Amino acid sequence: MASYFDEHNCEPTVPEEQYRQNALLELARSLLSGIEIDLGGLDVTDWDHRLPPPAAKKVVENLPKVTLTAKQADAGLKCPVCLLEFEEDETVRQLPCEHLFHSACILPWLGKTNSCPLCRDELPTESHEYEEYKQEKARRQQREHRLEYLHGAMYT
Ligand SMILES: [Zn+2]
Ligand SMILES: [Zn+2]
Repeated sequence: MASYFDEHNCEPTVPEEQYRQNALLELARSLLSGIEIDLGGLDVTDWDHRLPPPAAKKVVENLPKVTLTAKQADAGLKCPVCLLEFEEDETVRQLPCEHLFHSACILPWLGKTNSCPLCRDELPTESHEYEEYKQEKARRQQREHRLEYLHGAMYT
């Protein structure tokens, strides 16, 4: 099976991005080993510096359950959180980004924050405040792209 990055052709080449991804996986793993993640320590009101809120319960409940095929098992497909290889006929959870996880690995994580610990693809949340922030951020990015475009058109 091709990886997410192959399929979407968006190799994470920016070191900071890579660091953030690894940091998320580290956090997800520390949850498994029973280490409480202290999110309260980050006293920043700006969502840019906070872990987003938990994924909406309805969305999590409806995540598809996928049964591992022999082919996937033979390919040595691993759960990104605990790094154990999946076994044939094992039932795992699939996120919308198509990444697969053990229920026991991903469910506690999605109870903390809404993104895939591997690719940071976000699930909807129940936080009105956060959903508004996301929309505002998208609008801001559009504006910035537009400005860059105008700047490029004028000065090149
Ligand atoms: Zn796992
Ligand atoms: Zn993912």
